[in-house]
Amino acid sequence: MQTTGDQHLVKKINKTIVLEAIKKESPLSRAQLSEMTGLNKGTVSTLVSELIEEKLVYEIGLGRSSGGRKPVMLLFNKTAGYAIGVDLGVRYLLAVLTDLDGKIVSERQVELERSEAGYVLPVLANTVRSLADAAPDSPYGVVGVGIGVAGIVDDKGTVLFAPNLEWRQVELQRLLAEELELPVTIGNEANAGALGEMQYGAGQEASDLVYLSVGTGIGAGIVVGGRILPGTGGFAGEIGHTTIEQNGRKCSCGNKGCWEQYASEKALLEAAKPLGVERLGKLVELAESGSTEAIRLFHEVGESLGLGIANIVNTLNPDLILIGNQMTRAEPWIRSSIERVVTSRSLPFHRKQAQIRFASLDTHSTVLGSAYDAISAFFSKDRISL
Ligand SMILES: [Zn+2]
Repeated sequence: MQTTGDQHLVKKINKTIVLEAIKKESPLSRAQLSEMTGLNKGTVSTLVSELIEEKLVYEIGLGRSSGGRKPVMLLFNKTAGYAIGVDLGVRYLLAVLTDLDGKIVSERQVELERSEAGYVLPVLANTVRSLADAAPDSPYGVVGVGIGVAGIVDDKGTVLFAPNLEWRQVELQRLLAEELELPVTIGNEANAGALGEMQYGAGQEASDLVYLSVGTGIGAGIVVGGRILPGTGGFAGEIGHTTIEQNGRKCSCGNKGCWEQYASEKALLEAAKPLGVERLGKLVELAESGSTEAIRLFHEVGESLGLGIANIVNTLNPDLILIGNQMTRAEPWIRSSIERVVTSRSLPFHRKQAQIRFASLDTHSTVLGSAYDAISAFFSKDRISL
C-alpha cells in the first residue's frame, strides 16, 4: 500500500536525522534532540530506543538539568563496528582500519613490486584480511571495505581505465566482494581524498573545494556546493590529463603534453634521475641537506603545479584548493613557487577568494575518505544518506 510505503520512508528519514544529530552534536538529551530536529518527543523517544537496541547509540550519566529531573545523555557508539579504507596507488597500497567515526585503529602499508591486476588483487585481499583480523570485537564487526583507485571507475565498481596502473576493465568490486565476503565500495582516489578532507580534515568548512591528488599522476576531487561533482558518467576530475603543452611529452593516456607529465611525483622523479634519485623521500632528504640541484627540481615542479592550479582557480572559483597525496611531503620546497605562479597567472578576484593549502591528513586523505565511503554505505542500507 502506498501509505505504508510513505510512512516507512518518513520513519527512515527521521531515524537518519536523529542518528546524524547524535553523531555530530552528542552528548545530547532526548529533549535537545527533539528541539534540534523539530521532531516531537514521542517520535524521538521511539527512534532513540531503536538506535539503542541496534547498539548504534548508548546512554551515559546525567546531563545538566534546567530544573526538574536530570536528563540522560545520548552518545554515538563509534565502536559498534569498523571499516577498512584502502588507497590503491601505483607502487604502494595503504590500508587502514577505522572505527565508525574515522579514527584509525590499525594500518598497513605494502610496496607493490608490479602493477598488473593478477598480482595486486591477492596482495590487496590479504592486506584487507589481516586488518579485518585486527578489528576489536564489536556488534557489527567489519561493516565494509572502501577502495580508492587512481583511475576511471564506473558505478558498478569496475575500473574502466587506470593509465598509470595499466588496468583496463578490471571488475574490482565484484572480484573483491566475492573474495572477501564483505561489502566493497570502489571510487576514484581523488574523490575519496576530497571526501576524507571534507569529513575529517582541512575541508570541513569549505563548500567549493578542489582536492588535488598529486602522486604518480594527478587527479582532482571537485566539490561544488558541498558535494562531489561526478560528471555525466562519474568520471569528472581527470585534470592530470588536461593539455598544458600542445606538442609536449607523451602521456600514458595516449595524449601528449598532459599536466601530469610536468607536475606529478613521476615527472619530478624523472627529472631527478641524473641525481641518481628514485624516490621522493630521498629527494626531500637531499633538499633538506641543502642540495641546490634538488631544490631547483622542486621549484620547477612547483611552478608546473602552479600553472594548472591557476587554471582551476580561474575556471571553478573555489574557496579552497588542497594539495594532497605524496606531494604533501614536498610542501616546504614547492609552496613558494606554486604561490608565485598562481598569483601571477590567475585573475585577481578569483585569486583573492581561493586559499591554497596542503591536505591536513597528509598522505591519508584517500584511505580515510574510502573508509568513510564504506561507513556511509553501511548506514544507508536501512537508512537514508542525507
Ligand atoms: Zn594524459
